[in-house]
Parts: sequence; structure tokens; C-alpha cells
Amino acid sequence: MTIQTLGELFHHTLKDVLYAERTILKTLPKMQRKATDAKLKAAFASHLEETEQHLVRLEGVFDMLAKPARGVKCDAMVGLVDEAEALMADIEDIETMDAALISLAQAVEHYEIARYGTLVAWAKQLGHAEAAALLKATLDEEYGADKALSKLAEQRLNAAAA
Ligand code: ZN
Ligand code: FE
Ligand code: FE
Repeated sequence: MTIQTLGELFHHTLKDVLYAERTILKTLPKMQRKATDAKLKAAFASHLEETEQHLVRLEGVFDMLAKPARGVKCDAMVGLVDEAEALMADIEDIETMDAALISLAQAVEHYEIARYGTLVAWAKQLGHAEAAALLKATLDEEYGADKALSKLAEQRLNAAAA
């Protein structure tokens, strides 16, 4: 399919993010299981719940556009998840695993922040104010998840230094 207009690019990117969210939804439970620190486990559990809502919101946006909620393969998220799987398989030490999980999850959040940031801007530009509001709500949660992970990483460093 060729993309000619901003509207088509917006639709394509929505499909990319839908696929990306479905992909990370399948991997988050595994990351949660691999985590040892109770706060990190809880952070994964709460972002898993948020991610379910991200999918509901995306479906809402597809509805607003009168388009089916069909994804298109997001090679970036597939790559991030492949990397995560490979790294998790290589680590045995639980402290090191927690540090790795934080870094892997942050890479995912940063990708999502980039995508949702763009989608919010395009939705506004295209006059889809309601869609922009839904996408912004998710963007804020991706930022929140990233911040929570940064905080956990800092706490780990402080504890290690003490
Ligand atoms: Zn998300
Ligand atoms: Fe992508
Ligand atoms: Fe996320």
C-alpha cells in the first residue's frame, strides 16, 4: 500500500502502534516473572494493566476513523522484544537481571513515547481532537511508566552505593 497523505500516514502509524502494543502485552508478563525486586514486579504489573487500556483506546481511535483495528507489523517492537528475550536468556544473576529488565523496558517505553507523541501531533493537525485526547492519555501513561522505571534504577544505584 502506498502512503500519499498525512491522513494515510496517521492511519499506518496507528496500525504500527496497535501491533507494537499487542506485542509488548505478550512479553510484559514474562518480564514481570523475571523481576525479583518487589517494586519492579509491581511496576510491570501496573503497566501491564495500563497497556490493556492502551489497546482499548487504540480500538476507540480506529472506531472514530471508521476503520478496522488491524495492525501492521512493527519491526522496531519485534526487534526490541527479540533483544529482550535474548538478553534475559543470557542472565542468571538476579540483581543483574533486574537492571537489565529496567533498561529493556525503558527502551520499549521510549519507542512508545516517540510514536504516541507523533500520533498526538498528527491527530490534532488532522482535526481529530477526540482521537488526540485518547492518544495523549496513553502518551502520559507511557511517560509515567518511564519515570517510574528511572526512579527504580536510581534507587538501585543508591542502594548499591550505600
Ligand atoms: Zn502502551
Ligand atoms: Fe514501529
Ligand atoms: Fe508502555
